[in-house]
Amino acid sequence: MPELPEVEVTRRGLAPHLTGRVISGVAVRDARLRWPIPRDVLALAGRTVKTIRRRGKYLLVDCGDGHLILHLGMSGSLRVLPPGTPAEKHDHFDLVLGDRLLRLRDPRRFGAVLWTSDAVAAHPLLVHLGIEPLSPSLNSTRLYALTRAHRTAIKQFLMDGRRVVGVGNIYASEALFRAGIHPRKSARRLSAKDCERLTKAIKVTLRAAIRAGGSTLRDFVGADGAAGYFQQRYWVYDRAGKKCRRCGKLVRKVLQGQRSTYYCPTCQR
Ligand SMILES: [Zn+2]
Repeated sequence: MPELPEVEVTRRGLAPHLTGRVISGVAVRDARLRWPIPRDVLALAGRTVKTIRRRGKYLLVDCGDGHLILHLGMSGSLRVLPPGTPAEKHDHFDLVLGDRLLRLRDPRRFGAVLWTSDAVAAHPLLVHLGIEPLSPSLNSTRLYALTRAHRTAIKQFLMDGRRVVGVGNIYASEALFRAGIHPRKSARRLSAKDCERLTKAIKVTLRAAIRAGGSTLRDFVGADGAAGYFQQRYWVYDRAGKKCRRCGKLVRKVLQGQRSTYYCPTCQR
């Protein structure tokens, strides 16, 4: 499943192919994604793409008088291809931009293609999203203040997109390891120092993943075939029973809210 780093790498890869280009055509082969693709998108031809931004795991294509909202769901990928490239079975949506096209492939159809001409930040899917983890808005003071009212385990707090957006299961485990914080520690029991280490760890973890993706996903533009979500070397994620890379003790796995959490009992207190 594409996480925030994959979406950010996709955004960076797509930006030079979209920005400033005029939409010359739209193709909807199967509108039945997570929500039906609205008919409005068929009328996008003639608009110029101003920029492409990201909010959480949503990509926002700014068309001046409105935004195309894209989400990759569980299995979606976006690629830039020459116009006229034959569509395959799961290629549900194309945005044609003159001499290139943006194509959404989504075998499981949990992705989304939506349109809004209202203020995009107020869109029902976006309005409740929490702080962007890579923005200056996520800082230790803010995290300390936000966690005060929550008895939930810090791991689950981090994965709640209404607090901080886009820190999924993998990155929550990894960031807590880097910060030396036990995943079951109650959010409101984090000290100011914990919040400082955790804020830093979240940013470092996500940035490292984006860097890794930037090198391994370079070929998503123009390439054919699988989406190729990037593989990384994790500290604890998916390493239950293996030796901690820092102290050598065995990494443990526990379930928190039906999700697997990985941690080192020695390095994380
Ligand atoms: Zn350890």
